[in-house]
Amino acid sequence: MTAAAPSKAERLQKVFPVDLEKFLPEAILRNYGKWVDRKFHGNGIIEHVSATGERIFTVKVALPPNARLSADTLDKFADIADKLGIGALRVTMAGNIEFLTDSLEKALKIKEEVEKLGFPVGGWGGALWGINSCTAYLTCTTAVVDSPSISKALGDALKPYFTGEIPLPAKLRVFVSGCPAMCAGGTAIDIAIVGQWGAPPKIREEVLPMCLPPPKALAKLPESQIFLVQVCPTGALSLRREGDKVKLVLIGEKCINCARCKENCDAFDYDPENVGVSILVGGKMSNTGTGPRLGRVLIPWLPANPPRYEEIVAVVKHIVETWRQHAQPGERLADFIERVGWTKFLDLLGFGKVRDYYQRVPEFARTFLTYRSRGDVYPRLRDGI
Ligand code: SF4
Ligand code: SF4
Repeated sequence: MTAAAPSKAERLQKVFPVDLEKFLPEAILRNYGKWVDRKFHGNGIIEHVSATGERIFTVKVALPPNARLSADTLDKFADIADKLGIGALRVTMAGNIEFLTDSLEKALKIKEEVEKLGFPVGGWGGALWGINSCTAYLTCTTAVVDSPSISKALGDALKPYFTGEIPLPAKLRVFVSGCPAMCAGGTAIDIAIVGQWGAPPKIREEVLPMCLPPPKALAKLPESQIFLVQVCPTGALSLRREGDKVKLVLIGEKCINCARCKENCDAFDYDPENVGVSILVGGKMSNTGTGPRLGRVLIPWLPANPPRYEEIVAVVKHIVETWRQHAQPGERLADFIERVGWTKFLDLLGFGKVRDYYQRVPEFARTFLTYRSRGDVYPRLRDGI
């Protein structure tokens, strides 16, 4: 009698999650949990010292935006890992790839080889650890901006902070998301760039009826039963009754340009002129310093101009430089802002001219769900820089 074929659940159990020890290199298995010390050899090469006396060296290498690699590049990495390493690679949360090897000489050779391929080594200690990007235009249907190409422009400009050529006070991570869904990692990060429309959508009245109940039903139904009214998180979509006619209207002042209406109905269209980003600063996931916190809106809206996104790059570099020049050693951006205060931080950035604006409209300076975009803020920021 032949054994019954494994069920789908049993098959999945066998491959996911993969048993850790099955695929670990021998050197790592021998020293599992026995690491007692570590040393740094320039930015991006770290020596791990085991109680057994063995040493392993990690070489940390930046990946392209969205951590996307061609099979050809992966082959080249695998060849380097086989030839100079211990046959293992690890992809990190910050979007880097780590090669493991057993001597400093080989680690330096790996650095040379990956740099020849165009991939920088770094991202450890007081440095830019990486730029995480969502997929956006690569495969996503809701993207406002092309986050991978913004990440590329930013990565080029911030490379000296990754390689350690310009040391930073502490760890820095940057997330770039194509829209407020924030798939790059949320707002609990030093600098978050989020695709954001700069003005409410326009309604194509001729298409709108396809997204609403028939006129007779619409006239009788309460707002609470109209799907489009319900998808709007701020009450910006509302029914207006004029005699026996009922109309769906968009109240611009309440709209946070989140695009949920557009995702649910083709009658909502955004003007390409209003493609841009919000920039949030001072978030942190770790419980170090002043503890974890969400980022706070620094810039409600900035235009996103491909291919080099000069405005976004200039603002991010300016934030990083201001923090670098004024922070204490080991002070993350969040802790720095906490110590000097938001008002002083804006002054140090040279955004003094917009400080009053933040104070008058406090929800602009709050976070996440309350952030909204207003095109008129950008000129004020630009003039203030
Ligand atoms: S953040 Fe937005 S654009 Fe990026 S992958 Fe998520 S849904 Fe798509
Ligand atoms: S963009 Fe968002 S807030 Fe504005 S009307 Fe549409 S659903 Fe409402």
